[in-house]
Amino acid sequence: MLGSARRIVVLTGAGISVASGLRPFRGPGGVWTDNPEAERESAAPDLPQHPERIWKLFGPMRREVVQARPNAAHLALARLEERSEVTLVTQNVDGLHLAAGSRNLLELHGSLLRSRCSACELPAFEDPHGEMRPCPACGALLRPDIVLFGEELPYLVSRAAFRACWDCDLFLAVGTSGNVAPASRLVREAQANGARTALVNLEPLEPPNPFFDQEFLGRAEELLPRLLEGAR
Ligand SMILES: [Zn+2]
Repeated sequence: MLGSARRIVVLTGAGISVASGLRPFRGPGGVWTDNPEAERESAAPDLPQHPERIWKLFGPMRREVVQARPNAAHLALARLEERSEVTLVTQNVDGLHLAAGSRNLLELHGSLLRSRCSACELPAFEDPHGEMRPCPACGALLRPDIVLFGEELPYLVSRAAFRACWDCDLFLAVGTSGNVAPASRLVREAQANGARTALVNLEPLEPPNPFFDQEFLGRAEELLPRLLEGAR
């Protein structure tokens, strides 16, 4: 499926990490699906001002993510970087692409495995086993370095993702519907700039997304190694 693609943008979503034992937030079997109160809380507009509530929601998830290991799909994408110019854009906060060895990685929604200060500009830092505690610089509470509902995406990260889409010849989305911004805008930008666009997803998109030229249905951990390494 790579064909003659030289510059590739891959966008990944929750579907790629299911085989690593991590549930998506929403949809069937999702973390929030059987807990509507937690889902409401996760979207509360004042959540960013209350680090203790952020920890209550995402602290247990950090402990799950620490246990998870990359699966064959994460590993195939890391190997792709050795052969092609790849920009890997992920909506996931589970750190599994880094663990698999991907380096040219843009984490649109941050990472649960890092912490940052809820008040000052202390740079985010690796903190996979960290719990709620005060910032060493200013004493306010630290929080996981993830983008909450309603918060702005990190500017440099999202700008780099769009730039990569303007300049790629293949755009591949994996385990994400591509229907929600900014993913929906990334695929549109890539297609408008002449890239071939393809989707690897467990189920067909409903409604269909006209910005994908091709759709490969199945499990990412089975399809990706085959599609990226099968016929070269
Ligand atoms: Zn601080």
